[in-house]
Amino acid sequence: MLKTDYLILGGGYAGVPLAYRLARKGEDFLLVNRRPYQTLAALLPELITGSICEEEGIIWLKPLLKKVLVAEVREIDLSGRRVVALDHGRESVLVGWRKALVICLGWEPDVRFPAKGVCFVRELPDAFMARRALYLQEGQRVVICGGGFVGVEYAGEIATDLGIKLGLEIHLVEAAPDLLSGLPPEARKKARSVLEERGVKIHTGVPVEAIDKGRLVLKDGTEIPGDLFLWAAGVRASRVLEASGFEVDERGRALVDEYLRAQGREDVFVLGDCAGTGLPMLGQIAVQQGKFLGEYLPQIVSGQEPPPPRFAYKGLVVSLGEAEAVAALGDRVSFSGMLAVVLKKILGKKYFLDIRI
Ligand SMILES: Cc1cc2nc3c(=O)[nH]c(=O)nc-3n(C[C@H](O)[C@H](O)[C@H](O)COP(=O)(O)OP(=O)(O)OC[C@H]3O[C@@H](n4cnc5c(N)ncnc54)[C@H](O)[C@@H]3O)c2cc1C
Repeated sequence: MLKTDYLILGGGYAGVPLAYRLARKGEDFLLVNRRPYQTLAALLPELITGSICEEEGIIWLKPLLKKVLVAEVREIDLSGRRVVALDHGRESVLVGWRKALVICLGWEPDVRFPAKGVCFVRELPDAFMARRALYLQEGQRVVICGGGFVGVEYAGEIATDLGIKLGLEIHLVEAAPDLLSGLPPEARKKARSVLEERGVKIHTGVPVEAIDKGRLVLKDGTEIPGDLFLWAAGVRASRVLEASGFEVDERGRALVDEYLRAQGREDVFVLGDCAGTGLPMLGQIAVQQGKFLGEYLPQIVSGQEPPPPRFAYKGLVVSLGEAEAVAALGDRVSFSGMLAVVLKKILGKKYFLDIRI
């Protein structure tokens, strides 16, 4: 069995900043990730349309961190202090930890109604699959299920140049009365009007009953036929947590204390979308947590108390496609236009600064 001091599961927005800081301190760690790269989820809409190239949407892990095992985590054996993983999908590998296990396995789609033939875009290959479906022939009907920030970004990105060139028919479906619930009313209004101007057909206020046989059926009986159904209707934490016996909340996130330790464990930490902190499942929270533990994990494990962390939601910038975006800072302040577009670009670049690329 392989053994390391700090075993990190998942090389995403939480795991990479954490591993990067442990590497700088010269700590012994191993990062296990199912792919040799991190897919930058915030860039998935652009990866789908091809408005950025593959290399812009991923970060190769080995050149940055060196100690990386490309394998699929299957199970965490808490009592045996080891993890069962599948190496390149073939051979079973056991990896143990001496000082701490840190789980940053991210999110999965949370599907609560029958959904056949839906495209779940989580990583680069999924984005390619969606792109192929868009290009299959002219005039494809694209149905985006979920009008939160992910669905709005998909619609905005697909509706610009590519949508016009390919003559796409784009539908955006949301059960809540409006798009972007939780954002200030001006931001919601702006997003709706920009998308409608770009030809997106918006359906709000009626939940989806099912997606099957090439059509999405709403609870009121309306049917929307589609060639490509994109999922943006909710996420939950990785199922590995639940399957491994962690106590979890209603979104499958492990219950943790203020230092992100799993309940009843001094040596197991849970970060990002997998951590039940009551904060939204967002990259900005995952990065804050990864950076914090990257600084203080060795200290916490050796029994010292670091300053209490202050993880906080700072607002959201939602891209509406080419040259348009809405930004919401807190519950009230919002703005749109070039300022929001530039802010979105700066926030994207800031992540590279966090890991010094
Ligand atoms: C389209 C889209 C746009 C978004 N835009 C924003 C935004 O603008 N701002 C924002 O703050 N948030 C945004 N988010 C949310 C953000 O991406 C997530 O909150 C963030 O990725 C969570 O970070 P994480 O480290 O917990 O998980 P992830 O970043 O998902 O990392 C998890 C890693 O674990 C790996 N993994 C998963 N399961 C296994 C397994 N069993 N074995 C091995 N490896 C595994 C994955 O390959 C991945 O590399 C967006 C999400 C999407 C889908």
